[in-house]
Amino acid sequence: MSKILLVTGASRGIGAATARLAADKGYDVCVNFASKADEAESVAEYVRSKGQRAITVQADVGNEADVLRLFKRADAELGQLTAFYNNAGVVDVATRLEEMSEASVERMMRINIIGSFLCAREAVLRMSTKHGGPGGAIVNMSSAAARLGGANGLLHYGASKGAIDTFTKGLAEEVGGEGIRVNAVRPGIIETDIHDDMGVPGRVEQLGPLVPLKRSGAPEEVAEVVMWLLSDSASYCTGTIVDVSGGR
Ligand code: NAP
Repeated sequence: MSKILLVTGASRGIGAATARLAADKGYDVCVNFASKADEAESVAEYVRSKGQRAITVQADVGNEADVLRLFKRADAELGQLTAFYNNAGVVDVATRLEEMSEASVERMMRINIIGSFLCAREAVLRMSTKHGGPGGAIVNMSSAAARLGGANGLLHYGASKGAIDTFTKGLAEEVGGEGIRVNAVRPGIIETDIHDDMGVPGRVEQLGPLVPLKRSGAPEEVAEVVMWLLSDSASYCTGTIVDVSGGR
């Protein structure tokens, strides 16, 4: 059976690095993106250059109709999903709680939590032996902020990722007997565009040297762990949350 992976938020950053590594490892890939179609297409072109199939699908993971359309496109154009990386997520301009707007909190929870729930639901519906699927593997995207709290700017982000840790544990138990493993990665400071959205210039350069390994991480270093968790090499791992944070 073909190995078919859907990655949300795969046009840039950690999702893009994972989609590329998946192609290196023989997966066909559905590359989801929110707005940057050219970046998504360049990831898909890399996948095809490795002899694998790739499609790009615009979809906002926080919108249920979009999520349904995303998974249906993958069904129709790639076939039976075997692996799912629930990666898409956002931050916001760093703000203390006193200045945090309802809209900012709502957007964070909608994309990071509700989006992850909706996408995982669609993956389970396709993979679970209870629903006639062949089983599979899911990796959720947490963050070190789930452990650290996100104080002084990202309380909503930290709380949204804390929910992902809990969701990972619970879902792993719920579908463990149906052939699906569910794990998560919890990255620290990784060199991607996401830091620009916080409005804190030089954040990666400032925080990288403070972790035990004395540097920030590359998206490819997270991708390696994700692909291991999705692979049969991690066949007895479920409900596991792997820190990829240089020791922080
Ligand atoms: P990034 O470089 O900013 O990339 C974000 C990706 O998510 C892009 O592909 C973007 O699509 C997509 N996206 C954003 N909102 C979306 C939505 N509503 N629906 C679908 N796709 C959406 O970010 P990144 O650093 O790789 O982050 C990826 C994940 O890692 C996030 O969940 C983040 O919380 C987590 N994380 C990152 C770090 C870090 O230090 N970088 C640390 C811990 C956890 P477009 O390109 O079309 O905008």
